[in-house]
Amino acid sequence: MTRSVGLIERYRADLPFGPDDPVVSMGEGSTPLVHAPALSERVGADVWLKLEGLNPTGSFKDRGMCCAVSAALREGASTVICASTGNTAASAAAYAARAGMRGVVIVPEGRIATGKLAQALVYGARVIALQGNFDEALRLVRRMADEHPIALVNSVNAFRLEGQKTAAFELLEDLDGELDALCIPVGNAGNVTAYWKGFQERGASPRLFGFQAEGAAPLVLGRPVERPETVASAIRIGNPARWEEAMAAMTASRGAVRAVSDEEILDAWAFLASREGVFCEPASAASVAGLLKYGADGCARIACVLTGNGLKDPQTALDRAGGVVPCPAEFGALEAAVLG
Ligand SMILES: *Cc1c(COP(=O)(O)O)cnc(C)c1O
Repeated sequence: MTRSVGLIERYRADLPFGPDDPVVSMGEGSTPLVHAPALSERVGADVWLKLEGLNPTGSFKDRGMCCAVSAALREGASTVICASTGNTAASAAAYAARAGMRGVVIVPEGRIATGKLAQALVYGARVIALQGNFDEALRLVRRMADEHPIALVNSVNAFRLEGQKTAAFELLEDLDGELDALCIPVGNAGNVTAYWKGFQERGASPRLFGFQAEGAAPLVLGRPVERPETVASAIRIGNPARWEEAMAAMTASRGAVRAVSDEEILDAWAFLASREGVFCEPASAASVAGLLKYGADGCARIACVLTGNGLKDPQTALDRAGGVVPCPAEFGALEAAVLG
């Protein structure tokens, strides 16, 4: 059996960590890349799914958080803070717990998926429900980190991108460098920026297709959105922190940033679960919704990043899924229920 190593151990030569630096790791990264036959057939190209929901807290945020919290520990910080639509909070809370640090997470009140809230609380973070949206929360935590000795672990932290770029390394290794395009959901735009950094460091330039939800599509519109709205809570962001870098990356790759509707997101999300057996969270399905909507654009080999696990957001799932079949504890009734 192979021992699972975390991404700092796997890619230390490519990361800003020396051999004696403290590492806060839970075996993040090295996520499966699975071929998607039904999706491939629909779009007429070979499509793979990068299952980032299989990271330790169920989203790709663990890649960046492993590096950001390790660096904070090295610098002697005792508290980490972040603003979050949910997954950054869950991840920061977990890595802070493991590092013996205090975790403080600021989430938009009432707008965070159930699983993510449960995670942040159980990992022991102080969870602050801000009466405002993500963009306001980010502005306020930046000031907190400026005025207090607290490490900010949002994706404005360069270590986050360092960790997240390793997903690009893995893709290139798994596909022997043969990748024409990447489809990825875009919220704060840190992840698409990180993938591009990783690809560039390996001399690769697949086309980057970023997808935003129609109601939260500042990069597509070319201006901030004051009240971002979408079922995909992880990308409900109106003023991305990595705006310029992300746009530069998508342009340099001859890619694009485009919008998909909530209905298209949920259709793709249901298709992934019912046809590929992959349950991701709604925001993740924006990558596949975009591919289905805009087509392969001449690309033969495409990877879609499924950023988070479907179990994060059970309420949206149950609201959309079919109902259960009631049945008395009696064989005839069971037969009717099973065969009906
Ligand atoms: C954070 C997140 C995104 C968006 O990533 P950005 O780096 O903010 O663009 C997409 N999907 C999920 C599940 C996320 O948690």
